[in-house]
Amino acid sequence: MSRKSPKSATSSGQYVPHPRYGSSPRPSGVKISETDLRLGFWRLHGDTLFPETALIADTSKQNFSIYPRKYYVDALRSCRRCHRPFIFFAKEQRYWFETLRFFVDADCVHCPDCRRESRTVQRRLRRYSDLFAKNEPSRKELMFLVDDGTYLLAHGVLKNLSNLGSVKNRAMKDISEYPGIACLAEAIKAARHVQSEA
Ligand SMILES: [Zn+2]
Repeated sequence: MSRKSPKSATSSGQYVPHPRYGSSPRPSGVKISETDLRLGFWRLHGDTLFPETALIADTSKQNFSIYPRKYYVDALRSCRRCHRPFIFFAKEQRYWFETLRFFVDADCVHCPDCRRESRTVQRRLRRYSDLFAKNEPSRKELMFLVDDGTYLLAHGVLKNLSNLGSVKNRAMKDISEYPGIACLAEAIKAARHVQSEA
């Protein structure tokens, strides 16, 4: 893996931005050599690092079995889902391993965008499942069911088209004026087409 200088990398704006830490390495003022950083945690072996961002870890707050992380350092990653590059920030690592106390071997494999999207999917799936089970959803809840169903179908999370069809029919009966129904109907039609091709 070739290491690009942080400067050229940031000026081209090629990293997926993090909502709190941005999209460029954050120099810390702490001077630790790249060799020491790599010796400080075996897992950093293959990563591109930005040594000027290093932070000294408080290993007493970490959750580890044999080897703690001695340092945190901004590391360049490639998202496992969308394959775009992003930075796993030293400050974020400190938050993960000292505040949240994730096990020190936990790795960050998805970019901030994909992590946010999967949180949204989980949240909407929970709401959809709760409302789907309700006998008499309110008008507002029916709208959520329609919109969540459309979203989750588009993200490949829901596959049962007859359940979604029943949501659509319920909505047509009770909130027929709601424009979201047309989107759901379209999404179901497209998914049927894909399933019949498969
Ligand atoms: Zn991604």
